[in-house]
Amino acid sequence: MLHNSTTSETLPSGCRVHVIGAGPVGLLLTALLQSMEGVSVRLYEKRREYKRARMVRLASYLVADSVESYCSDLIDGQNVQAVFDPPELEEGLAFRRSIPSDLMALLREWALGFRQLNAIERSLSDLINARQSNPVERIDAAVTAEEAMAMLQPGDVLIDCTGSKSLLRGHLKPGAVDGDANTYNIRLEYALVITFLYGQAYKCNEYCKYYKNVENAHYKFIPAVHRICTDAGVSHVTGIVSITAKEYEAMPPQFDGQWLRSNFPVVAQSMDHFIDKIKQETHGEIIGDLEAIRIPLNLYRARNMTSRQWRAAGPTDHPFASAPVFLVGDSAIGSPYFQSISLGFECAMFLAGLLRQRNLPLRDMLDRYEVYMYKQWVRVYMSSKTIKHNKDLFESVGDPMALLDKLHIY
Ligand SMILES: Cc1cc2nc3c(=O)[nH]c(=O)nc-3n(C[C@H](O)[C@H](O)[C@H](O)COP(=O)(O)OP(=O)(O)OC[C@H]3O[C@@H](n4cnc5c(N)ncnc54)[C@H](O)[C@@H]3O)c2cc1C
Repeated sequence: MLHNSTTSETLPSGCRVHVIGAGPVGLLLTALLQSMEGVSVRLYEKRREYKRARMVRLASYLVADSVESYCSDLIDGQNVQAVFDPPELEEGLAFRRSIPSDLMALLREWALGFRQLNAIERSLSDLINARQSNPVERIDAAVTAEEAMAMLQPGDVLIDCTGSKSLLRGHLKPGAVDGDANTYNIRLEYALVITFLYGQAYKCNEYCKYYKNVENAHYKFIPAVHRICTDAGVSHVTGIVSITAKEYEAMPPQFDGQWLRSNFPVVAQSMDHFIDKIKQETHGEIIGDLEAIRIPLNLYRARNMTSRQWRAAGPTDHPFASAPVFLVGDSAIGSPYFQSISLGFECAMFLAGLLRQRNLPLRDMLDRYEVYMYKQWVRVYMSSKTIKHNKDLFESVGDPMALLDKLHIY
């Protein structure tokens, strides 16, 4: 069918929304849409179980009730005020006030402390299943891009929440032959995310990254200060060690301290030095072994976050020319340094707020989402670059010439 979209076309009442990917962001978006009148949701997921046990913490801005509290973070707060106008921030706060209380209670709880990622996923999943008056149709399947396109009927909305290896990102640019043509990517660095449990309270602060690394010329372990927590006398410690591209290639995706000792003894020694300093303070011991994941720290965005270009391309029978498609979460924007879930949740809230406005022409809906997401990209770009720059400076503390080389003042 050739599509000839009009500028005033809106979503029909009783519209069907396909959410592909039930990770944290797809689940939150589904829970937000589920209670919306005139919307039925189909949620597709390929995993059978939620197994990712890493500890995550949500940003407090997700549950902010004033512009001031939304902008309270030292780095992020100023960026937000530079990028967003006050009415935009107020609109976000107004949407939060409308979030159903069962869901808001979970968000408030998660913004207070640490949770395992799979606990967040399970809680959202259970909440969706428990709301029997608005059931969500759940489909256990790995959806292909072709299947996603084929299932679209007039009036449907398609939302890709499939994470960093997005199913549809590469398909949102008409005529693109290169799958990466719709992705702008900056490789900030390669890193090991190392986690361990320590059998005493560990009060980590900003000075730890210097004083506990004084014996480490290289491979400094930078603790994620705000992600370290003590529960029932056991501290959960996470941080990052920068590695080279060559080292990244030589490592398996995941490994333990024993593997590190045998294969990269200098990195293991650095970890020992850091941990010895913690032990000197509280005389505790490590529980179990180190756990390491090697990751490329990528900062990326989809150049097109919606099917807007397909609609503008003129009459065509491509399904994306008529059905609105949105990327949300890691499928749209990826940011390192432990901020992605909150960013994905924020964008899911905005999209849910747009889909609720039934009189809003589809073209405006797509445009508004693109603009909003671009602003979120600028926000996360600025904070990630600041963090990376600070990390680079930190590597040269104690070496004034190297430090001055990195300080470009004007
Ligand atoms: C080591 C590590 C530590 C991290 N720590 C933090 C942290 O502390 N804080 C933080 O905010 N973020 C953290 N992150 C990032 C965070 O995990 C991701 O940003 C977040 O999981 C993204 O959520 P998402 O729902 O967009 O995508 P994902 O979590 O990737 O979920 C995508 C879902 O889609 C499903 N899917 C994919 N393709 C298909 C398909 N074709 N058909 C059906 N289903 C499909 C997948 O199975 C998955 O369930 C960390 C990441 C790593 C690697």
